[in-house]
Amino acid sequence: MKKEHLFKKHKGTDYQAKAEAFCEDYKQFLTVAKTERLSVEYFEAKAKANGFFNIADKTDFKAGDKVYYINRNRSAVFCVIGEEDLEAGINLVAAHIDSPRLDLKPSPVTEEGGFSYLRTHYYGGIKKYQWVATPLALYGVVVKKNGETVKIAIGDGENDPIFMVTDLLPHLASKQMTQKMTEGIPGEKLMVLSGSNPDLNAESDEVKTALLKILEEKYQITEEDFYSAEIEVVPAGKARDLGFDRSMVASYGHDDRVCAYTAFEGLLETKTPKKTAVVLLADREEVGSMGNSGMQSRFLEYFLEELKPSVRINKVMANTLCLSSDVAAAYDPMYAEVYEKQNSPIFGCGLTLLRYTGSRGKGGSSEASAEMVAKLRRIFDDNDIAYQFAELGKVDEGGGGTVAQYIANLGADVIDAGVALLSMHAPYEIAHKADIYEAYRAYVSFMA
Ligand code: MN
Ligand code: MN
Repeated sequence: MKKEHLFKKHKGTDYQAKAEAFCEDYKQFLTVAKTERLSVEYFEAKAKANGFFNIADKTDFKAGDKVYYINRNRSAVFCVIGEEDLEAGINLVAAHIDSPRLDLKPSPVTEEGGFSYLRTHYYGGIKKYQWVATPLALYGVVVKKNGETVKIAIGDGENDPIFMVTDLLPHLASKQMTQKMTEGIPGEKLMVLSGSNPDLNAESDEVKTALLKILEEKYQITEEDFYSAEIEVVPAGKARDLGFDRSMVASYGHDDRVCAYTAFEGLLETKTPKKTAVVLLADREEVGSMGNSGMQSRFLEYFLEELKPSVRINKVMANTLCLSSDVAAAYDPMYAEVYEKQNSPIFGCGLTLLRYTGSRGKGGSSEASAEMVAKLRRIFDDNDIAYQFAELGKVDEGGGGTVAQYIANLGADVIDAGVALLSMHAPYEIAHKADIYEAYRAYVSFMA
């Protein structure tokens, strides 16, 4: 099938202008919601402003009602009730809102050679060498013993300090430069440089106590409070246009907030659908979806039971159509050797569909049936949505997974459907504005 650049396909219309305008709002979101908690906050506020009820505040639901559920401040379900009974199945779009990053260790504060540091433990699949010598910000919460929550956000305000992990100067890196890329920067060296002034009144550990004093004065948190904190180290800086033609968006966290945002915006366009439309935003996808905020837990089933206590979940799921909305690996001519071009998503040519992910012999993956794919082709063709079927690189090259298999295991028909990226999992990932907008259009048509 011929792949056509969407701006060319729609030339002479307002398509490109609409895509560009859509991405202006998307960039704002990326800039303010760099963690799963901040994403949940962002979407909850927007849902409320658009007439959604918290499921805890409402019991009787009728077609057209809008309702949401927040799970432990880190994952969420947003829903517009359809005309048909829940057991006729739902149209589900599932994305994730966690991204690869550095987490602070439980006891992070330390000092070494006149510098204070925060020790980290990386989360998700990162290339460690990409996280040194680049501006970083801290986001998260510290929950104190009395239950009080202190929010941390340092590094993106105009006058905020930033943080960094240092790298070796090339002059002394002759050994490092010959090491394997997996070994050049060991995990324990991902220490966030946090200060260098001594505590003028301390006798030992001067720099560490100086840092602890600042934390106490500015945030009223003690060293022990880090035990009950979730603080994430992420790239500092805004989402930006990329290229002379401003055709692309470079940002931290496209994976997978690009699908979360486009799916959520799509749901806002859903009035009274035939089938109940659900957007699920999961946490912990980058580490295998386990845990009570991840897709392997039961917060979707919990939500459906809250919606209708008598519901037969298995029947709902057996009749459910799901887009597992996650990013895909766009064909990158600079690394052409790992792609099989015919089955790779091409930038700017529309939504990427993957019937399966996994690695090598399709290991660790569900697979969308021919019947389901045919149904989806019909929906998208009827709505003039551009889509491209793809795989993740060459067969023997590697692989990956998404939340698709966990939803398929519940009995639903699932296909991966999302936006293709360059530099996936890098501190700054790249997406094409046309693909972002087309994903939004696709989700609108799927949930209508
Ligand atoms: Mn992802
Ligand atoms: Mn990922």
